[in-house]
Amino acid sequence: MKLQYLGTGAAEGIPAIFCSCAVCEEARKKRGKNIRTRSQALVDGVMLLDFPPDTYAHYLAYDFYFPGIRHVLVTHSHMDHFSPAEFELRRPDFITSPLDTLNIYGNSAVEAALMKHIENGPSAPYLRFTRACPFEPLDLSGYTVIPFPALHDRSEECLFYAVTHEGKALLYAHDTGIFPEPVWDYIAKTGLRFNLVSLDCTVMIEKDGTNHMGIPDNVEVRSRLVSLGAADKNTVFIVNHFSHNGGLNHDLLSQEAAKEGFIAAYDGLETVL
Ligand SMILES: [Zn+2]
Ligand SMILES: [Zn+2]
Ligand SMILES: [Zn+2]
Repeated sequence: MKLQYLGTGAAEGIPAIFCSCAVCEEARKKRGKNIRTRSQALVDGVMLLDFPPDTYAHYLAYDFYFPGIRHVLVTHSHMDHFSPAEFELRRPDFITSPLDTLNIYGNSAVEAALMKHIENGPSAPYLRFTRACPFEPLDLSGYTVIPFPALHDRSEECLFYAVTHEGKALLYAHDTGIFPEPVWDYIAKTGLRFNLVSLDCTVMIEKDGTNHMGIPDNVEVRSRLVSLGAADKNTVFIVNHFSHNGGLNHDLLSQEAAKEGFIAAYDGLETVL
């Protein structure tokens, strides 16, 4: 499997649109890996993880083929993860070529947000929504996806996902605190082993664990995964989804992450499992 990070910022991006803090000013001037659009990742060119408002900008910036995308896994309805207005542009009057159905997966809040933008609701032939439920695996054309409950906004059932394909497994866990106990139980029971683990690091070097994570929380999660046999020395750990409130631009953040053996994601980072 190939995972490509298209965006690695939290809701406001870096530089944050209306902010003039030191992190944002430095990012604006130095650009490069300091620029972080809202979080989104692509698996094997066919599956998107989240659909932020920067999705179209990602399409223009990177070499992938949007009509070839079959599946969109959405973690929750926050605007940096789900920007449903774009889906209206799959209506036949906006497209002159034949179109396959695009499958969107998410919780009930994602479904409600999507349906506000789609004529004919769930029966639109160019889009199919499927409710993703914690611990109920989804079969997506050769990829098995396992939704997990996230410790995040308590007003909806936020999710994060494991994706397995041809003997490889990745865990993409953003906008979550430390995983809830049932997640650990499921991982222990099923014997999942991850080749790549991508962890929320919104607060960078701070500790949170209840809504987001920082590097100290990431260390705790890695320890528990290793103790369960779900990760080992060959598992790649990447930290991702950063806010300017964490106070660091890419170079300093990378140094802090490297001290713990983590790779700090940046927009465009590609990794093959
Ligand atoms: Zn977010
Ligand atoms: Zn700022
Ligand atoms: Zn969120």
